[in-house]
Amino acid sequence: MKKILVALLLFTVILTNAQQIHANRKLNQDPYQASRTISNDLIHTKLKVGFDFAKRELNGEEWVTLKPHFYPTNTVVLDAKSMRINTVKVNGKKAKYNYTNDKLTIALPKTFAKDESYEVYINYVAQPEKVTQQGSAAISDAKGLYFINPDGTEKDKPTEFWTQGETESSSCWFPTIDSPNQKTTSEIYMTVPESFTTLSNGLLVDSKKAKKGKRTDHWVMKQKHAPYLVFMAGGPFKVVKDSWNGKPVNYYVEAEYEPFAKQIFGKTPEMIQFFSDFTGVPYAWDKYSQMVGRDYVSGAMENTTAVLHGERAYQDAGMLADENTWENVIAHELFHHWFGDLVTAESWSNITVNESFANYSETLWNEYKYGKDQADAHLYEDTQMYFMSQSEAKDLVRFHYASREDVFDAVSYNKGGAILHMLRTYIGNDAFKAAMKEYLTAHKFGTGEAHQWRLAVEKVTGKDWNWFFNQWYFGNGHIKMDVTYTYDDVAKKVTVHLKQTGDKIFKFPLMIDVYENEVAKRHEVFVDKATQDFTFDYTTKPKLVNVGARQVLLAEINDDKTLENYVFQYEHAPLYKDRIHALDYLKEHLTNKQAKDIFVKALKDPYYEIRQYALDNVNADKSSKVRALIADLAANDTDNRVKGDALMALAKLNNVADYKALFEKAMQSKSYSVAGAGIRAMYQLDPKKTAAIVLKKYPLGTRVKGALKTALFDVWVGEKQEQFMPLVAKYAGLYPVMRGDDGAAAKKGFDWIANADNTEATQVVVDEMLKIGKKYAKYGISKMLVPVLNNLLVTKQGLGNSASLQKQVSIVKNAITKMQSFKAEK
Ligand SMILES: [Zn+2]
Repeated sequence: MKKILVALLLFTVILTNAQQIHANRKLNQDPYQASRTISNDLIHTKLKVGFDFAKRELNGEEWVTLKPHFYPTNTVVLDAKSMRINTVKVNGKKAKYNYTNDKLTIALPKTFAKDESYEVYINYVAQPEKVTQQGSAAISDAKGLYFINPDGTEKDKPTEFWTQGETESSSCWFPTIDSPNQKTTSEIYMTVPESFTTLSNGLLVDSKKAKKGKRTDHWVMKQKHAPYLVFMAGGPFKVVKDSWNGKPVNYYVEAEYEPFAKQIFGKTPEMIQFFSDFTGVPYAWDKYSQMVGRDYVSGAMENTTAVLHGERAYQDAGMLADENTWENVIAHELFHHWFGDLVTAESWSNITVNESFANYSETLWNEYKYGKDQADAHLYEDTQMYFMSQSEAKDLVRFHYASREDVFDAVSYNKGGAILHMLRTYIGNDAFKAAMKEYLTAHKFGTGEAHQWRLAVEKVTGKDWNWFFNQWYFGNGHIKMDVTYTYDDVAKKVTVHLKQTGDKIFKFPLMIDVYENEVAKRHEVFVDKATQDFTFDYTTKPKLVNVGARQVLLAEINDDKTLENYVFQYEHAPLYKDRIHALDYLKEHLTNKQAKDIFVKALKDPYYEIRQYALDNVNADKSSKVRALIADLAANDTDNRVKGDALMALAKLNNVADYKALFEKAMQSKSYSVAGAGIRAMYQLDPKKTAAIVLKKYPLGTRVKGALKTALFDVWVGEKQEQFMPLVAKYAGLYPVMRGDDGAAAKKGFDWIANADNTEATQVVVDEMLKIGKKYAKYGISKMLVPVLNNLLVTKQGLGNSASLQKQVSIVKNAITKMQSFKAEK
């Protein structure tokens, strides 16, 4: 599963609020969570299901084949959440059963021995709306089966259904042993309205007309997989076809996005090839399909051969001209088809053997496809999110937790990915690939845990890796270290002083690069004490001593380098992190000419994010040379995101009017970053003319997304075009959790709505705030939005006493009560 927090970088505040909650948790007091005892093994699951959209129910028949795991037994217990059980049979004969607390305990007609299989038949009704279990940060709900717009009352939304199994929600729609240490083959007969397209695991083997304008599709999954990966969905989807190695690779999207499906998902076959090559284990399944569902409760989910993505996957040509923001998620879910689906975490405590690999696959794909800078930048961002989550107290392998949903966090994902990166560097790329192959081959169609991953690494390398696994997998925290330097110009020696400042002392190999002139001499040392000194000779005084020169440590390092060191580091140390660390330091010293000059140089950095960073920090008003450089980026950069930022930088200059031609041309760009920046700049220069052009080009009802939307937002609010007010209202109330320019624009929109007598817009603004407040209540978002609603109330009350204003006042009052009811912790 892809965590929604990763997908929602927009809401930066979520993380800072999340950290307080995590920091407050007393983890060691949480109970030990043993793996589920396996009394019976699932063998095969056959389902026949139909849907009652009006009642939001599923009518099901199930034939499940099982056998005792080892010890003979005369009982089987199935998870079955909030169902009505009509009939239970074993081997064709009615059986006694007890159904309480979501457990269906069935008396078998005799004691079955190991390897003696039996078939349980259950006729049941699933009632997902009655499920009471709670979701997690990764999944905002947990009712297993979701009916979207089931009565067709929401316009602009298709009627569809889809399922979400992880963690233990498949048992909300079919009785099963809902545990990751079970595996079953599966088949589903799904009876749906004839207009629906269906998707499930495995292959569609048959499709037959049924009664009353319906159709029954029969999907068969021949290979074993865990119950939480069982999936089905149906709706008015278009199928865009692709393939890999003769296997179908299909994209299920709404008609509107059919033209963009290949642009969004089209790298999938290349990814399948890359991951097959990298692991040495060819893609194991019969097909690979991806679907975009409405109102999905997480980022995306790796249901075997049938991945479900949230709506944020939907992008159009203008967004895709900037970047495919969903590409990392596509890689993540695909790689789960090795780590997660082929070899499944044996328990939720071990979820990191699914999620750390899926997380790290994003870095691997970026490295392969876009180069080392982009891979390093991605990993760096992920690592920063782990640091921000302040979850130092949590072990990577989490035997103690309160809710199984809690393990889907920045430790299991981001920190786990960073640990794999260290391990890959330590054992070497070839050994890492061989260890993956060993682990995947030894446990395919079965389960794995961190110790089995360690044993695979040990088998391949011939070395003991307990020291690494004990501190990183079965321990908590990360390296915290102060680094200082003493230069002895007489003896010509530099001493590097290391001091570990965290609660724990970590052991790690460390590379120290000593730069005399422009060439680095690399020294390898091993750190295993709280304080350690390392001394190196030199001929001429080093311009830089770079500690941790491979930039792979999961560490917070307080490095006592000088400004001159950092200037040298930006220019000569090769890695993304070398450059970004240098710029982070130099940004705080922009009064220094050398520091300023580095930012000018960074405008031409080979990596686009660094060029963007430089654009944010150069002050061009005093230098015509810098202005020329920025204008060059605005016109000619190979990356539209950089072009857009360069245009925005020009728009803030004193001589902004000089660039009018550039802005006018930008307005015509296909790229939303470029067109949006052009619109923003031109709206500032010539509001009347620009507004006329923009409002004509993008009339009400035009679909606008991404950076273009924020630009149009400026015009709608600036021109006080009331027909756009409900559109503005969709984002305006969320200004406290939005970034920079976008947050400021949203706040303007909010003030506009607050001071207007518009009931529809008021309703929309509070509905959107409530939606986000409820979804992210755990992260304190609802608490942050209450004062915003209070301000809205006071403003509305001050506007007058018309019937419509009274209505708006009551809408806001109700919203405040609701928002206050969303609690920060479950
Ligand atoms: Zn995942």
